[in-house]
Amino acid sequence: MDIYRVLKTYFGYDDFKKGQEKLIKGVMSGRDVLGIMPTSGGKSLCYQLPAIILDGVTIVISPLISLMKDQVDSLDEMGLPGTFINSTLDYDEFTKRLDDIRKGKYKLIYVAPERLNTSLFINLVRDINVSLVAVDEAHCISQWGHDFRPSYLEIPKFINSLDTRPAVAALTATATREIVEEIKNLIGLKDPLEAITGFDRPNLYYQVVKPSNKLSYLMNYLKDNYINESGIVYCATRKTVESLVKKLTDQGVSAVGYHGGMGANTRQKNQEDFMFDRVRIIVATNAFGMGIDKPDIRFVIHYNMPKNMEAYYQEAGRAGRDGEKSDCILMYSPADIVKQKFIIQSENLSCERETVMYQNLQYLVDYCHTDDCLRNQILIYFGEEPQENACNNCSNCLDKSEMVDITIEAQKILSCIYRVNQGYGVNTVIRVLRGSKNKKVLEWGLDKTSTYGIMQDYSSNAIKEMIMTLISKGYIHITADKFPVLKLTSKSQEILKGKVRFYHKKDLLKAKLSKEEALTADEINKNFDKDLFNRLKEIRLNIAQQKGMPPYIVFHDSSLKEMATYLPQNQDEFLNIKGAGHKKYENYGKDFIGLINDYILEKDLNVAEIRRKSLTDTSTQMGNNIKADRYELTYDCYREGLS
Ligand code: ADP
Repeated sequence: MDIYRVLKTYFGYDDFKKGQEKLIKGVMSGRDVLGIMPTSGGKSLCYQLPAIILDGVTIVISPLISLMKDQVDSLDEMGLPGTFINSTLDYDEFTKRLDDIRKGKYKLIYVAPERLNTSLFINLVRDINVSLVAVDEAHCISQWGHDFRPSYLEIPKFINSLDTRPAVAALTATATREIVEEIKNLIGLKDPLEAITGFDRPNLYYQVVKPSNKLSYLMNYLKDNYINESGIVYCATRKTVESLVKKLTDQGVSAVGYHGGMGANTRQKNQEDFMFDRVRIIVATNAFGMGIDKPDIRFVIHYNMPKNMEAYYQEAGRAGRDGEKSDCILMYSPADIVKQKFIIQSENLSCERETVMYQNLQYLVDYCHTDDCLRNQILIYFGEEPQENACNNCSNCLDKSEMVDITIEAQKILSCIYRVNQGYGVNTVIRVLRGSKNKKVLEWGLDKTSTYGIMQDYSSNAIKEMIMTLISKGYIHITADKFPVLKLTSKSQEILKGKVRFYHKKDLLKAKLSKEEALTADEINKNFDKDLFNRLKEIRLNIAQQKGMPPYIVFHDSSLKEMATYLPQNQDEFLNIKGAGHKKYENYGKDFIGLINDYILEKDLNVAEIRRKSLTDTSTQMGNNIKADRYELTYDCYREGLS
């Protein structure tokens, strides 16, 4: 039977998908092939179809033990004789299968890589005719990729142990150019015929958001989008999975968790509940992953940033396998970078590998800060040339927010990096620009540089946002180390000399509440949330009593009022509160931020909205007289008993 008849007879399709025909013809002529095709591109057919026609047996090496049964069942449905061999079989079943394989009962054998070089399996393949070895998820052989499986390195040994070398097909959905080369070398593909069909998934909408409260953002999204349809929420840690599931279910959202620390039964049950639409959402770590082929997942939301673009592309790519419109939303927060760096550091990697991991992470951070087309950023990462400047289906292409010229600010930042001899990281540069009295800054004499304090009017967050955007556009280089340092690049001169203008989204800088826009003490007195203020006073009193000191030593009323106005939810925001330095943050930050976050949840507050409102409500009075502010503050301090 020719390949077109087989396609129709067994699979029921009239045409091949892109790349399939080329690879199948290659395999049929005995050549090695390499297929890089996107998720749902139809990779399985590239070895299943030849398996039917070729004499002998096709061995499919797959890391997905949990899916092998399903794969074999669906072969069965099509009338294709297949079986699998992995650690889930007991000894009797295992030997029975080997017997059946010897008798020629099967055309396809799925096998876990760990089994390949066991003596039982080696003996088996000596007795049968292997015509094709298909390596599924071939990127798992790369130590640089995110799914490295050491057992994949056993594959070449296995192939070489065969009396006659069969054709080898390597297939994957994610591979950068470097990883493609590694796959070829490590598996030992011989002059492979390649089909690289592109990484674009036009039905996926990409979005990066930077919410000040992730939970309320998520709740709002779930209320308004794909209400009765399935979605995945990825988190970085097991702990976050657990707590998020609790918060969601407490608020009536149908959700279950999935992570490696759960018992196998619970994991299996939760996965099935999700797959069979018994629950709407699965909240998971990256343990929930490869091979999940539920076709109708309408959204994949990353509650935390994953470790690199490959991991992101693969996880987000689980949305919309059926080709229908679906959302891929990445929630960015600087704390996630810290978390990912911590994970890299704790992995005991070689220096070289650690550097690569930092670089990979940085690419994703850049993705979060670029204002160029997000889809194009993904395609470029995988070595593909974008066809258009704008895809019109990502948050950047559809965002019509106003851009402001921040060339002067960019020049100040670049000059500062130069003045501190390109020897410090983001936070120190920000401290210098803001004129911080931080001990280290003073110790290192950075307060003597000409750029000390030249951006006092901006919050740390706003400056960080500008720096990150400059990095994403190549005007600043950030070294790939444990302690990354900011350096100028050849492009920096273009901005420093005023040859190019630099723009940024106004909203993002505004949302960070620059000091310029901050309220005066008088305005705060009118705007703060009284109920929250009282609760803050309560924990202040508790702390003070425990320590045997007066409450105002912990925080002045004016600081509590600022908290009850701006609702700081993380370290950066907390440090923007008047009177909240690093020591205070260390001692009390957790208690106060915790209370504020609980309060926001309890009252279902939209923080961004409240902040904007406090600003607009008072914008009419915004002569914003810093002098008056200082008098007020002094008076406050006096009233609170300070000298
Ligand atoms: P991948 O492994 O690349 O993610 P699959 O092999 O699971 O993708 O195929 C994705 C879907 O596309 C499956 O439902 C499969 O039956 C279908 N498919 C494969 N080849 C064709 C084809 N030539 N025409 C139509 N549908 C196809």
